[in-house]
Amino acid sequence: MNRREFITGAILAAASGFCPPAFARARYLPGESVRSLAVRDNLPEILGVDDIHEADVFLDSGELPLLLSVVARLKRLRHTLGYGNFSLMGFDYALSNAAAYSSIGAFPPAEATFMEKIFYEDASIYGFLGDKKLSGITDTIRLERIVKIPGTGNCLYQGKPLATYKKIMADVGKDAVLTSGLRGIVKQMLLFLNKARHHGGNLSLASRSLAPPGYSYHGVGDFDVGKRGFGVANFTERFTTTRVYSTLVDTGYVKLRYTRGNRLGVRFEPWHIKVVTS
Ligand SMILES: [Zn+2]
Repeated sequence: MNRREFITGAILAAASGFCPPAFARARYLPGESVRSLAVRDNLPEILGVDDIHEADVFLDSGELPLLLSVVARLKRLRHTLGYGNFSLMGFDYALSNAAAYSSIGAFPPAEATFMEKIFYEDASIYGFLGDKKLSGITDTIRLERIVKIPGTGNCLYQGKPLATYKKIMADVGKDAVLTSGLRGIVKQMLLFLNKARHHGGNLSLASRSLAPPGYSYHGVGDFDVGKRGFGVANFTERFTTTRVYSTLVDTGYVKLRYTRGNRLGVRFEPWHIKVVTS
């Protein structure tokens, strides 16, 4: 079975996690544990991630049509091949599938070059200071090492990520759910560019809530956990009001990937489970 057949054959649910909107103002809650408070202390540090700052870096206005057309084509790709397949998709596979389906349409050279520029550009130029986890745009998720998590539409790597997830489910209980697992470069590209598209090509703003493609720890093993049935509220401050969150904190699972002072240029994400240690 080749890679294409594997992905196309993988039946993955349509639901797919993402890490969307910004926090509203943080408040302390009655009865919160000290450790919960310690984590929540970080929230005010990262308020206003969707505010425009004077030093924000934008795409050149001439690139905005490319931004729009790339985002639209990536969405058509996602629609045609399904959210689950799209989540795991590599760059070369995206290009070949776009060309294969008239409902998507091949990426013109200018669009492919634009995505390459976004990927290889040093993200610190626009304020994102995290380490790059995947160095090549054609780097792929190791499909032979993934495990589909039933009922979530998401996948995890075998080994430490899967073991951590299973332990969380055992410790937190059936209220917990995997809300976002492994993401390939193409999915991260769409998330990042779509955020920039909604904000006039503001790459700095986009990178404050979404790691640029290649920089996301979701590409190497980290994942997000939420409360079952809580929907997109799992990616807002409201998640910190749930028992799932307080249990995650009290059992030490929520380790600060993006710490105080917003050092990496990303908001604090209390739903993010740090698995990868390097
Ligand atoms: Zn995350």
